[in-house]
Amino acid sequence: MHQLHSLEAALKHFFGYDSFRPEQRQIIEEALAQRDLLVVMPTGGGKSLCFQLPALLKSGLTVVVSPLIALMQDQVDALRDNGIAATFLNSSLSLAEMRSREADILSGKVKLLYVAPERLLSERFLPFLEKVRSQQGISAFAIDEAHCVSEWGHDFRPEYRQLKQLRQRYSHIPIIALTATATTRVRQDIIQQLTLRQPGVHIASFNRPNLYYEVQPKQRQSYNQLLKQIRAQKGSGIVYCLSRRRVNEIAARLAQDGISALPYHAGMSDENRAAHHTCFIRDDVQVMVATIAFGMGINKPDIRFVIHYDLPRNLESYYQESGRAGRDGEPAHCALFFGAKDIRTVEYLIEQKPNPDEQRVARQQLRQVIDYAEGTDCRRTIQLGYFGERFSGNCGNCDNCLNPKPIEDWTIEAQKFLSCVARCQEKFGMAHIIDVLRGSRRKKIEQNGHHLLSTYGIGKDQPTEAWKMLARSLLHQGLVSETTDGYRVLKLNKRSWEILRKQRSVEIAVTKAPATKATGEATPKAVEAEMLFMQLQRLRKQLADAQSVPPYVVFADSSLKLMAQLKPQTLDAFAQISGVGTHKLNQYGEQFVSEIRAFCQEQAPPVPLPSDSQMTTLQLYQQGLSVEEIAQRRSLTPGTIINHLSELIEMRQPVDLNRLVSAQHQKCILKAIQTVGSDSLKTIREHLGESFSYEEIRLVRAWWRREKT
Ligand code: ADP
Ligand code: ZN
Repeated sequence: MHQLHSLEAALKHFFGYDSFRPEQRQIIEEALAQRDLLVVMPTGGGKSLCFQLPALLKSGLTVVVSPLIALMQDQVDALRDNGIAATFLNSSLSLAEMRSREADILSGKVKLLYVAPERLLSERFLPFLEKVRSQQGISAFAIDEAHCVSEWGHDFRPEYRQLKQLRQRYSHIPIIALTATATTRVRQDIIQQLTLRQPGVHIASFNRPNLYYEVQPKQRQSYNQLLKQIRAQKGSGIVYCLSRRRVNEIAARLAQDGISALPYHAGMSDENRAAHHTCFIRDDVQVMVATIAFGMGINKPDIRFVIHYDLPRNLESYYQESGRAGRDGEPAHCALFFGAKDIRTVEYLIEQKPNPDEQRVARQQLRQVIDYAEGTDCRRTIQLGYFGERFSGNCGNCDNCLNPKPIEDWTIEAQKFLSCVARCQEKFGMAHIIDVLRGSRRKKIEQNGHHLLSTYGIGKDQPTEAWKMLARSLLHQGLVSETTDGYRVLKLNKRSWEILRKQRSVEIAVTKAPATKATGEATPKAVEAEMLFMQLQRLRKQLADAQSVPPYVVFADSSLKLMAQLKPQTLDAFAQISGVGTHKLNQYGEQFVSEIRAFCQEQAPPVPLPSDSQMTTLQLYQQGLSVEEIAQRRSLTPGTIINHLSELIEMRQPVDLNRLVSAQHQKCILKAIQTVGSDSLKTIREHLGESFSYEEIRLVRAWWRREKT
């Protein structure tokens, strides 16, 4: 009981969090009991805390093995910002810096040391490590990204194999292995390769409830579709593309369209890549357009969206890549653009592989990706099922759960389509067959005499898109075949004939317009919180830049959101916010509290009082009368009533703006005011366009002025 209390207190003190995530507490207790551990958690699950908190509570140094310099730097920055003595040793340091860090370690000032495996086991380093062990002791070895030890994992690193030596040299020091890789094969391999001794194995659920998953049919104008999607998002995001060329092209086009975006791929110089990475984690650029080369080094917790512009290689990569969004637990959006054309590109790439076994595996993986994309079940259910985890029911946070696609029986339409393929003698592609069905007057049809076929025009009742949807689905379900020589001619197969003979029925998922997530109406209170949130973001960015660290190191988005909602105006109240530990309270408390206080004071009521006539309008308005009704009752023009209401709003009288202006328009108008200023109604209107009335703008501007003064 005592321990329970003190562990939670330590969590709040060092990290500012109020409670443990599932599994964390159990893992930490076992780590404190000197047990070997295998920790499997999805990205963002909170693995680091599992060795960091024990490191702080035990005596001696915890050595953390980490594969990438960028990862080390990030983790150490984040720890130091919590006032935790952590450091790293790697090739980026000068000799002098190295010596001084080693001295700090030997003097016992450091609790966590991050180091790459090849350094840890080098001739020069081992005597140093031995010195540390005899002087202050080594409390544990934490092996991060432990799947790198396994050839079955997606990121095998031979250096990791050497880590076996740790157990041989230091048989009594516990080893904690951590990974986000989900397959059992890799888990077994880790235990074996690192010779873990009866490890406590903790496998957290791979479900990431805060991620919204959706698949969008890739449109012909796919770039515009992407642009629209990005414009609808807030915060940082990644767009994954298949090729370097596409990465460069998309990044350039986005930049032209006013989205701050940079490319990232393996063909760039190390220097450029590092620079772009830094821009991204420091929020100097919003969107990273990348190949999968932009992978493990990113542990930016506040990525708000990941868009796969092209198909992922397999479902595990999709899970890992999309899973880079929302590590902080805040809502994030994962979209996959799925186009039939892309399938052929991937098939082509597969054909280039020299090894037939590899080809077979790759084909199967592609099939699984297609099944996922075409699937009508909950996306989460499909993904987790792939990892052997059962998830049942409606997750409520994927496109299929929010807008279930109806399954319809399209047997009759399929028969029409396939018999048309037969009548065209299996010599034409999808577009031509549809033209015949729809009775098109194209020349090509007459030239082939296809206007004389009995199937000519029998499909006029369905639009082209519907026929395409059916044809694709028939292809994907293997109910019709297509030649692969590049000409794409439709061929009937065994199953097609079964359909034509009425021995098989056809069911397809009927897609509607791409699903977009419904957004809640913004109340003025929410708008206010949003304004404070943006203000606090700016403060955070200033403080972060001053220390050359990423903004999320100062505070997570979730903490800023809480601040904007709860508006703590004293240090005590501020300390209660999740994410504010003792060190951060001391380091940043004053500045944030004074920013919040200033914001709240700006909201204080001004003195002017309404006139009698305005009061009459207010009373009628509160009785529920509309502007027109009030105008009629008082024999005034609606314009005058709007003026009254605007002034009343400015005087902080209880006029409910939501009855007058839709939340959507409020948002747009506020945004416009922020862009073009509040002085001229005309300028604002010109900025917004004809669908906004002067009245609306006047009302919202009044509200804005009131909030500002
Ligand atoms: P990963 O498992 O990917 O290594 P991290 O250790 O980086 O995940 O944690 C992801 C995010 O969750 C970080 O921002 C971390 O500070 C936060 N976090 C971890 N544990 C908790 C907790 N108990 N309460 C709140 N936030 C937490
Ligand atoms: Zn779902």
